[in-house]
Amino acid sequence: MQPLKFKMQRLTSQIKRAIALLNNDDVIAIPTETVYGLAENVHSEKATSKIFKLKNRPSFNPLIVHIKLLAYLENVAIDIPDKAIKLAETFFPGALTLVLKKQTTIPDSVTAGKVTVAVRVPNHPVTISLLEQLNFPLAAPGANPFGSISPTSAEHVYTYFKDKLSLILDGGICQKGLESTIIGFQNNQPILYRHGSISVEEIESVIGKLKIITKNETTPDAPGMLSKHYAPITKTFLTSDVNELIKKHFGKKIGLLLFDQKITGATILCQEILSTTSNLEQAASNLYSALHRLDKLRLDVIIAERFPDAGLGKTINDKLERASK
Ligand code: AMP
Ligand code: MG
Repeated sequence: MQPLKFKMQRLTSQIKRAIALLNNDDVIAIPTETVYGLAENVHSEKATSKIFKLKNRPSFNPLIVHIKLLAYLENVAIDIPDKAIKLAETFFPGALTLVLKKQTTIPDSVTAGKVTVAVRVPNHPVTISLLEQLNFPLAAPGANPFGSISPTSAEHVYTYFKDKLSLILDGGICQKGLESTIIGFQNNQPILYRHGSISVEEIESVIGKLKIITKNETTPDAPGMLSKHYAPITKTFLTSDVNELIKKHFGKKIGLLLFDQKITGATILCQEILSTTSNLEQAASNLYSALHRLDKLRLDVIIAERFPDAGLGKTINDKLERASK
């Protein structure tokens, strides 16, 4: 173990480097409580195009703008609905992204030409400290190539981008481990654009009923909700009957992704149990790292167990459905 003082000194110098790189139109990786992000100065057109290129991200898919405090929301967005303010007051800093009408100062390249902007206040000490020392917000999508499993550790980011990034700020393992929940508005009515770390139930307890866009429904307001997303390379199945699928794939190299219990009696190469205490938050935070591990094993198939359809179980099922498309 490194002494704390040494670690702190190293972190301070890394943040200094991050500031210099961001001021110089460069892209770096940052830790957040959800997943790692690729970050850039929101006003740098050069860095924005670098992010789209690095991620191989379609140009119609806008980035999330990260601000340091709720008080800065009005620098980024206008005509903010009351329900959005209520959500921001409840969940900022945290894993909630609001889609609002954008300020003219937010470049079209960041919002993919849309009149709206996605914005959140991240809750990770390293990135909070970085934002506090910058005089611009950061545009930061997930630090993964488009369509691949989101990164929840600095090692995941390095595996994806190797030396294409000048700096990966290492903030340890992401505490939530799932993307932010995205809420937008149509005629002041709140709509769920993406399931995430904050459950539908938690959101509804603050602002009442949400409109939920059903699977596969595409809407120009939620350009990033492509049905295949967050996917491992290995063929993945999601099922309520794991044993039946094991039988069906008899003779193949199988890996299992399970909620809380091992499957006994089956000859399986690897079983990832996401929470032995049946805790959905713990399962959520372990989901992507388990998928990364399974995907490295050169299996024929990954069989994932469907989670209870409540709270974060809904988010986990949504991510696994996209992974198994
Ligand atoms: P990522 O940063 O990779 O988690 O992706 C950001 C997500 O935010 C994508 O699903 C985007 O489509 C979504 N997003 C960003 N800006 C907007 C916007 N203006 N309207 C709707 N969705 C947005
Ligand atoms: Mg992403």
